[in-house]
Amino acid sequence: MRDVPDFPKPGIVFKDITPLLADGGLFPEACEQMAAPFKSAGVILVAAIESRGFLLGGPVAQALGAGVVPIRKVGKLPYTTRRVTYQLEYGTDALEVHVDACAKGANVLIVDDVLATGGTAAAACELIESVGGRVVGCSFLIALTFLNGASRLAGRRLESVLAY
Ligand code: AMP
Repeated sequence: MRDVPDFPKPGIVFKDITPLLADGGLFPEACEQMAAPFKSAGVILVAAIESRGFLLGGPVAQALGAGVVPIRKVGKLPYTTRRVTYQLEYGTDALEVHVDACAKGANVLIVDDVLATGGTAAAACELIESVGGRVVGCSFLIALTFLNGASRLAGRRLESVLAY
């Protein structure tokens, strides 16, 4: 992986995972490591966050014998949705999920590439719970611990392959 300074805006050091995705050995190994802490958690569904979360969520779900639920940006899902709006550093953003995405009480693992301030993952947890799922935890490839995203996910089980 590589750091790309000042992307997408000045002051952000972007964690570019495309070199890892392109490595046929490391990519499946990374997904296996994302799944490993949750092997005994009874995960029924992996909720993958658009868009880099989609690339990881599929293989993680396969490693757990689980299905996949897409958590998408506004207006992308075709059926009736629930929406959660959340705070960014400047302004707000929103995510959606299908109302029938999971059976009531189904164990769901949230998957994304990077945990930064935690707003995105917290919104994903809220969405899954709003449609009846039970969030067993969140698995990230990378956690930027200095941004203290865990504080927005208090009480949740958080795992990452790498932490900075
Ligand atoms: P946050 O809501 O602040 O935790 O941001 C997490 C979301 O933004 C994830 O979907 C990441 O893909 C993306 N993201 C935030 N910061 C970075 C970063 N430094 N490098 C790559 N992706 C990032």
